[in-house]
Amino acid sequence: MGIARGRPGGTRLDGVGHRFDIAAPNPAFWTGVYEDETESGAAVIDTSRLMVSVSGVRGRVGEGLTPEVIATFAAAFGAYVKQRGPGRTVVLGRDSRVSGPMFHRAAAAALQSVGCDVVDVGIAPTPTVQLAVEDLGAAGGLAVTASHNPIEWNALKFIGPTGMFLDGDEAAAMRAFLESEIPRATWDELGGVTTDEGAVERHLQRIFSIPFIDLDRIRARRFHVALDCVRGAGGSIFPRLLDELGCRVDAINMEMDGRFPREPEPVAENLGELEELVRRTGADIGLATDPDVDRLSLVSGAGRAIGEDYTLALAAQLVLRHRPGAVVTNLSTSRLLDDVAEQAGAVLVRAPVGEINVARRMQSEGATVGGEGNGGVILPDVHLTRDAPVAAALILQLLAETGQSLQELADGIGRYEIVKEKVARPSQPLDAVYDALAARFPEAEADRQDGLRLDWRAEKKWAHLRPSGTEPIVRVICEAQTRAEAAELVETLRAALPR
Ligand code: MG
Repeated sequence: MGIARGRPGGTRLDGVGHRFDIAAPNPAFWTGVYEDETESGAAVIDTSRLMVSVSGVRGRVGEGLTPEVIATFAAAFGAYVKQRGPGRTVVLGRDSRVSGPMFHRAAAAALQSVGCDVVDVGIAPTPTVQLAVEDLGAAGGLAVTASHNPIEWNALKFIGPTGMFLDGDEAAAMRAFLESEIPRATWDELGGVTTDEGAVERHLQRIFSIPFIDLDRIRARRFHVALDCVRGAGGSIFPRLLDELGCRVDAINMEMDGRFPREPEPVAENLGELEELVRRTGADIGLATDPDVDRLSLVSGAGRAIGEDYTLALAAQLVLRHRPGAVVTNLSTSRLLDDVAEQAGAVLVRAPVGEINVARRMQSEGATVGGEGNGGVILPDVHLTRDAPVAAALILQLLAETGQSLQELADGIGRYEIVKEKVARPSQPLDAVYDALAARFPEAEADRQDGLRLDWRAEKKWAHLRPSGTEPIVRVICEAQTRAEAAELVETLRAALPR
């Protein structure tokens, strides 16, 4: 493998001016440079231009990210899951990115080289790949996708035998294979490759068998839906989903060629074309996904993107109508969800940022619904991962049950303003800052699971201060009923940070 050179502990610019750590101190993430260890035969990868986290590795195509990098990580992953079991089958799928076929072939070859049998699901949503791992009783799964990252990125996401992403301990065990010689199979032990054409269909059937999805009731409404799949993998599932739900659909960006016509993250400011489509066609609702179809964003019948925070809030509202129980989200998610939980008499539990943290907490709490404020809804009835088709079905069921429009439903929950800031990370540990802030605001509830979160429940506002795992910055996020109030809170926290 190529020779790695970098400065562990240093920082660098990544080409667009983002600085990120070569060796990030946050144990939830690991980056670093594997020096050439010819004697031990360890795999050598230059990770200085990659972003490596617990659940995956990503980089810019042709810069940090090459077929060699993908093949090395895929081989290490294959060796890890094969040792762990059950069996040696790995499900492999990808989103629609232009670099997808190239990396998909590299990953498949690498998995075969360590003796894993590859089940290829082709272009598919990440949640479909995850569900296939569960359905087939596979040892793991790999999704070739950079999720909502811009067009020049690609990545691998690592999936364990439960269909959930690897957690910190599992990622460390996998990393051990990168740091030693990856055990390769001899000619007679190489893995095979088979294709699985049924993964999307099985995913749809799981959604249709959610106990509180009433297909006839949704179909009877004949919803007029505008759809934007950003030329991502959504085209493989959304048309069938909406067809089965009896919707009339006006769709854009359904070609699965990865040539994203907009920034692929489905945040309100990127959804202008969908807003226009809703207005032009008179649709009841607009749905937008990210390229790997785990996040869903909504546009009202008036053609206004209502903000991705409402997706989980509304989906949870529907689930709690049928099944009271705990709701889990991360520490940075809007308090719209507190209001929804409170109205339903449900408990809201907050976990550290990161999908796997939310999913694991949902498991331990026996939660009925959960997810992230970025449009990622997790429904354990289907599986413990973010799933945009699940979210869409829940939202349409809510519209059908209540007879209300999306805007009326959103207005019924309320409205908050979130202000986010990035501040350079001070060199000293932040514990003293957390202590000082908690002491200064004794009336606020303090949560120290992941940085510091202060919650003024009576005043309906909160602040979250958290060091980034991948960049030398501290994120400051505040939410309040007015923008001025949220901005003031950000300023207070920023001022408390040492310079
Ligand atoms: Mg995604």
